[in-house]
Amino acid sequence: MTVSNHFGFLDEYAKKEIRRTTLKAIAIPGYQVPYSSREMPMGRGFGTGGLQLTLSLLGKGETLKVIDQGSDDSVNAVNLRNFIEMTCSGVDTTTSTSEADVIQSRHRIPEKDLREDQLLILQVPYPDPLIIVEASENKRKTLHGEADYSRLLVKLYEDIVKYDEITISHRYPTRINDHYVIDPSPIPRWDVPKLHQSPALVLLGAGREKKIYAVPPYTKAEPLAFEDVPFRVENFTNKKGQRRSCQRCHCTTSFLDEFVDSKSGEKIYQCSDSDWCNEQIANRTAMSDIESISNTIESVEVANG
Ligand SMILES: [Zn+2]
Repeated sequence: MTVSNHFGFLDEYAKKEIRRTTLKAIAIPGYQVPYSSREMPMGRGFGTGGLQLTLSLLGKGETLKVIDQGSDDSVNAVNLRNFIEMTCSGVDTTTSTSEADVIQSRHRIPEKDLREDQLLILQVPYPDPLIIVEASENKRKTLHGEADYSRLLVKLYEDIVKYDEITISHRYPTRINDHYVIDPSPIPRWDVPKLHQSPALVLLGAGREKKIYAVPPYTKAEPLAFEDVPFRVENFTNKKGQRRSCQRCHCTTSFLDEFVDSKSGEKIYQCSDSDWCNEQIANRTAMSDIESISNTIESVEVANG
């Protein structure tokens, strides 16, 4: 593949437009700002919206992390990271959440709390939560302008009538700063509360739909719900009522992916966030090292009387 020698692949005019759009998105939290999404050397729907944001905002000397479904090693994440490395000289990449200045992600928000000096960019396939109740974009714009989400609430209510609960698992409609309701991208419900009062700026980019929107730092983000049917996140308790743990790091507080063990045919669970999982293992190893050192010191002290 031949790529431009230009830093960030996009021309300066394109980057400037995306930065201006981003500023507008931050100024009007949750509002979908249109922009002229550029053609990228990959199919739309493979994260071109997130990629254009990253390429426009990333600077020399900064460190980038790219994840897909919580993993740094999946094909989509590896391809995007390679492309950014090729087109942004002087940019470092990492798999560590805490080392990253910019995190581009598909389908997850890192388990570890983000900081004020970090930027999270989410790849978005469908930016408008109203699309399921209104086909016309013009009408949707009016509804957004008037913060009229009654039809969306009716949709959630129908879910409760049919299934006794709200069945939306991903892309849970979330009201930002008491006005616009956004599609927070296909993150699980588990991640939605992380948007609320997030110290880090969260930008959402939809390349195919040509929209950028934002959840600015320390902004209210409330999932739509009813007084008597509150919003709830995924439940990871087993039949005995115990919280399931990651079979790799034994963490009981993370979002878990379910696998079927090919040998036993049993369901096993593992942290979806691979960096988080590795860090828990490293912490435990470090703790047991400290324990064994302090045990040694104690036994030496006992021996010496
Ligand atoms: Zn784990």
